[in-house]
Amino acid sequence: MRLSKHFDLSEFKCKCGCKMPDWVFENIKNKLIPNLEEARKKSKVPFIITSGYRCEEYNKLVGGVPDSAHTKGLACDILASASGQRFEVLSSLIKSGFSRLGVYKTFIHCDVDYKKPYPVIWYK
Ligand SMILES: [Zn+2]
Repeated sequence: MRLSKHFDLSEFKCKCGCKMPDWVFENIKNKLIPNLEEARKKSKVPFIITSGYRCEEYNKLVGGVPDSAHTKGLACDILASASGQRFEVLSSLIKSGFSRLGVYKTFIHCDVDYKKPYPVIWYK
């Protein structure tokens, strides 16, 4: 199912193969995608989603933090392993209003879980 010009629901499904709850779908569609699509339009590189929604079990399996924004459909990780790609992804996310960002070796995490502190950028 197409969510916006550049994003399809299949890119955000939990990798364990479980069914996405309706409330998670609503969060992805209404809270995450509008900002993400705006960022993608500003970016010179494609956004390759490496992790979107994660159910509690899968989140635990991959070592996600408890209460992760991924478990609510409010977060995604975008592939960024080269320095130029990292700049494009990060700067376009910031320009589009994302204020919770994580910089990792091979990806950038962004989320719209505003029950958590913002604006913040962490790195691992
Ligand atoms: Zn799952």
